[in-house]
Amino acid sequence: MKLKIDYVLVVSVIMLTFTSCEFKQKENSMGGETLSHVEVDNELDPVCNMHTKDNVRDTLTYQKKLYGFCSSNCKEEFQKNPNKYLSQNQ
Ligand SMILES: [Zn+2]
Repeated sequence: MKLKIDYVLVVSVIMLTFTSCEFKQKENSMGGETLSHVEVDNELDPVCNMHTKDNVRDTLTYQKKLYGFCSSNCKEEFQKNPNKYLSQNQ
C-alpha cells in the first residue's frame, strides 16, 4: 500500500515538472521575454502608449534613436508609418 502512495507521488512530481516546462516553452514562443536590459530612447511605446520600461520586447533604430516596443506587432505598425506616431507624441 505504501508503495502505491510513493508511486502516485512520483507521478505527480513528474507531471508537475512537465507542466511547468510546457508553460515556459509557451511563454517563449509567444515572445514573452522582455528586454529589460535594453535602454531605449522612448519612454512610451509610440503605437500603443504603453510604458517601455520593463515592457520592451522589440526595438528599432529610427533617426539615430533606439525605440522600444511592447511587441513586434507595434514595431511593425510603427515601421509602416513612423512619422504618424512620432508627431503624436512630440
Ligand atoms: Zn505596443
